[in-house]
Amino acid sequence: MLRFEEPVQRIYLDHNATTPLLPSVIDRMTAVLREEFGNPSSVHHFGQQAKAAVDDARSEVAELIGADPSEVLFTSGGTEGDNIAIRGAVEALEGTGRRHLVASAIEHEAVLNTLKALARRGWETTLLSVDQSGIVSPATLRAALTDRTVLVSVMHANNEIGTIQPVAELARLAHERGALFHTDAVQSAGKIPVNVKALGVDMLSVSAHKFYGPKGVGALWIRRGLRVLPLLTGGRQERSRRAGTENVPGIVGMGVAATIAAGKMESEASRLGALRDRLEAGILRAVPGTAVNGSPNHRVPNTTNISFDRIEAESLLIALDLEGVAVSTGSACSSGTLEPSHVLKAMGFNAHRTQNSIRFSLGASNTDAEIDRVIAVLPGIVEKLRSLTRTPARA
Ligand code: PLP
Repeated sequence: MLRFEEPVQRIYLDHNATTPLLPSVIDRMTAVLREEFGNPSSVHHFGQQAKAAVDDARSEVAELIGADPSEVLFTSGGTEGDNIAIRGAVEALEGTGRRHLVASAIEHEAVLNTLKALARRGWETTLLSVDQSGIVSPATLRAALTDRTVLVSVMHANNEIGTIQPVAELARLAHERGALFHTDAVQSAGKIPVNVKALGVDMLSVSAHKFYGPKGVGALWIRRGLRVLPLLTGGRQERSRRAGTENVPGIVGMGVAATIAAGKMESEASRLGALRDRLEAGILRAVPGTAVNGSPNHRVPNTTNISFDRIEAESLLIALDLEGVAVSTGSACSSGTLEPSHVLKAMGFNAHRTQNSIRFSLGASNTDAEIDRVIAVLPGIVEKLRSLTRTPARA
């Protein structure tokens, strides 16, 4: 039997895939699981205790995104939030005859595959291209909008390369043509300021497990007065917009995580930004044939995506994992597929570069010493992999 030695130290650099739970999140969730088991819809003490816990969490999540608690709908995560926003809103407006949907080509699959599903049912769809900065230009959106456009969905920060999109400007353009605007803020909430009013959007989705909360819970903010059809029908939970007994422990955990993320945001952003920049500069210096993908200026502070010439990203990922370093080749949902990154493809990179890039996403536990170790081990690993392959150098 093959035996692998356990690496001396494990370094987690995949926080855009998911983050570990904060101890205080676990403590609060455990208390709810043990003691506050009531159904929030029940009238008695136990029900009201659970309802109060959900209400508190709603206020905490609302605070993180500058919203009114009554406009926050709890979901099972970012994917469901994106689905409710797109399907629920466009189906509510089906009678208007507006049947054109617009999204950027670098959206998460939760948006892209939802548009594909609606396209199969007769909606027209347009995907906005991006240039090598990985940013959607307002001019591209302006050209795509028509009087039939019902909804535009452009993410706030991209999960693979971290670029921040000019959401406020894009939302204004959509509104000028009478279309709704949704943004997937799953990768920005908790990392940089997110304010629904400043962004001027109609709907915004977030997910708890990207900011040290539990998996399987998220929230969708829906501007007051906007009609959105439910995807799940049944009871009257969540103001009849999402039926089903609430995931009380998950929701409560999300609330705690939201409060902590809001409190630490500024200091964590500057700490992680400095660590990320050091990692990036160290790699570019120590490893020949490397380049950063996407705009280095408009990015969330924890993310860098680097291409390694004459390397297959999956091989590098595995080699790094054997050294104890966890990174990713792009979105966790498409890893293991060996598919080229749809984000890098949409940015116009050649076939090789769409498959030779690694995402490093930093988070709370990362230290200077960890970054030093990655910079120290990477050149040797890359050199070894390059010596094993005969892939010719490409631009
Ligand atoms: N949107 C973006 C940008 C993401 O990065 C993710 C998760 O990777 C999702 C949506 C899906 O969120 P969830 O895993 O909570 O369904």
